[in-house]
Amino acid sequence: MSKKILFNTNSLEPFPLSRSKIDLFLKCPRCFYLDRKIGISQPSGPQFSLNMAVDALLKKEFDIHRKNKTLHPFQMKNNIDAIPFDHSDIERWRFNKQGIRYLHEKTNFEIFGAIDDVWMLPNGELIIVDYKAKASKDDPSTFLIPKTKKNGKIDVQELYKIGYKRQIEIYQWLFRKNGFKVSNTSYFIFANAQKDKDGFYDKLDFKKHLIAYEGNDDWVEATLIAIHKCLSKDTLPEASEDCEYCKYRSKIAEHESL
Ligand code: SF4
Repeated sequence: MSKKILFNTNSLEPFPLSRSKIDLFLKCPRCFYLDRKIGISQPSGPQFSLNMAVDALLKKEFDIHRKNKTLHPFQMKNNIDAIPFDHSDIERWRFNKQGIRYLHEKTNFEIFGAIDDVWMLPNGELIIVDYKAKASKDDPSTFLIPKTKKNGKIDVQELYKIGYKRQIEIYQWLFRKNGFKVSNTSYFIFANAQKDKDGFYDKLDFKKHLIAYEGNDDWVEATLIAIHKCLSKDTLPEASEDCEYCKYRSKIAEHESL
């Protein structure tokens, strides 16, 4: 297991910060601080190996067209005129522990994130693409729209959809900072497992949908400054109100103190 690098106010070394940790900060600054400064992380769950298998196979499909500089039939079907981008760093950009990186001088953070794919328009502009695999009964057009509760608040279980958008926007920011011209338009390839079959019979059928998203990375810069401010303090930030873990923990604590 690799050693956790924790934030140290006095260190001159760039502090690596992944796009998922930036997302953690936006979900709950307290959990982020505990993780990145104190070294206490939320317990991790099992890996989503079915999603990873879909990702790996989609990458293989698109890599054939990357090599041949041709459009994938799925792109043709969706009238996308952007071939998979063939760049010498593509493997590095897709490798979780590496990803595309940028040293943000104001904070001395080395920001990184691993992409699924990037396509190139005829004018050289890049399009960020992310693959997502799920088994959902919902209309694919609601892929990025979080459901709300009766009081109008977003259902906590649906907050991940906001995370999907931020994920794309950080990648757009990273590519721009690396000198590329990047389109605001991005795409999710949503592979939806079909449950309305007669049986499993050793096969899971998926239907692919292309979901367009207009990203806006304006928030990234200010967020990095806020993260730096948060980590530089000696006090724990506030916890998120919506977090189910904390509600669970405090309910247990109530009983433990009886
Ligand atoms: S509110 Fe949730 S995310 Fe925040 S510190 Fe508590 S457990 Fe962590």
